[in-house]
Amino acid sequence: MSTIRSDFPILNQQVHGKPLVYLDSAATSQKPQQVIEALARYYRQDNANVHRGIHALAERATAEYEQARLKVARFINAASSKEIVFVRNATEAINLVANAWGRANLRPGDEVLITQMEHHANIVPWQLVTQATGATLRYAPVTDAGELDYDALDSLLTGRTKVFAFTAMSNVLGTINPVAELTAKAHAVGAIAVVDGAQSVPHLPTDVQALDVDFLAISSHKMLGPTGVGALYGKRALLDAMPPFMGGGEMIREVFMDHSTWEDAPLKFEAGTPAIGEAIAFGAAVDYLDALGMDWVHQHEMEITHYAWQRLSAIEGLRIIGPGPERRGGLLAFTLADVHPHDVAAVLDMQGVAVRAGHHCAQPIHDRYGIPATTRASFYIYNTPEEVDVLAAALERARELFSF
Ligand code: PLP
Repeated sequence: MSTIRSDFPILNQQVHGKPLVYLDSAATSQKPQQVIEALARYYRQDNANVHRGIHALAERATAEYEQARLKVARFINAASSKEIVFVRNATEAINLVANAWGRANLRPGDEVLITQMEHHANIVPWQLVTQATGATLRYAPVTDAGELDYDALDSLLTGRTKVFAFTAMSNVLGTINPVAELTAKAHAVGAIAVVDGAQSVPHLPTDVQALDVDFLAISSHKMLGPTGVGALYGKRALLDAMPPFMGGGEMIREVFMDHSTWEDAPLKFEAGTPAIGEAIAFGAAVDYLDALGMDWVHQHEMEITHYAWQRLSAIEGLRIIGPGPERRGGLLAFTLADVHPHDVAAVLDMQGVAVRAGHHCAQPIHDRYGIPATTRASFYIYNTPEEVDVLAAALERARELFSF
């Protein structure tokens, strides 16, 4: 653990005179030295535009950029790196599918099914595309325990469903959804499965071929990589059949006055100069996680989460939302009596503890539980049980301050 922590220079600092305890990795993870260095090295040595140049730097930048694509493909066991489209973030990945696949395939009478536990990134693009195409948006409900309501889900998946889009792990409830099972249910009614992997890919081993998902949205900045880059995995046949989402340079084969022809996927979806250095550093983040092993990452987070669950549940007035620790990933969102989550987070911040407070870009699931907001502690590879102790002590301090 001390070797991992020493790779993250940012963790070694004081905040308000207290050692920083960073428990906000579900919002964005910290970056190891290896990722920071990969980004700096690219700008120091190799900076050039990709795919067009015929000079040494351009060839090097292109090779590294394509190598990063291959690393991401291998990380999720995609059949080919041609199935990986670099985008800006998980949000853009979902918007790409909603626009490119959705506008070409959705008609009035068709249905898009999402769940009540989605992040806004997997809600709003579907609202926009169903409004534009005349299709209908439906929501699969969530139980009091924070799981999908499978009976309701089965009755909502029908021959009208063309898309079933769901998160692999909720960023509020922590619920880990059974992706293979849900994908099979979608396929059984002839729908495609679009999976939001923003919270799962950084934390769990992912094998897109075994899961048989059609599309998977991935965020680099939540898995040790830089901001400004993410990936969309899409099955080759689907990507090939889809029209482009954005037009411009890089994505074309030929441009005439009245029409253009496209590059093959994935370049067809990468209009304009991409985030080259960021994609290369994303590749370095994948290398870092690969070296740790995703089984280790998951195991480590399970241990921290079990411990945090035990410590936090013992705090009077604290209510964790979502399923028990054995069925969730490495985060706990909670309320503390009727103290506003922003006040809780401000008190924790004074103790050096960084957590998130608010609706975490997931208002419908908060509405489901009749609460406007929660405080969320989220864990990653660099967190320790001692940090959970600091969190628990800081929450006790908040209880004293708000005197209940
Ligand atoms: N989906 C979930 C479940 C998330 O937690 C987030 C980010 O918080 C996103 C999507 C959006 O990810 P990005 O910041 O890469 O667009």
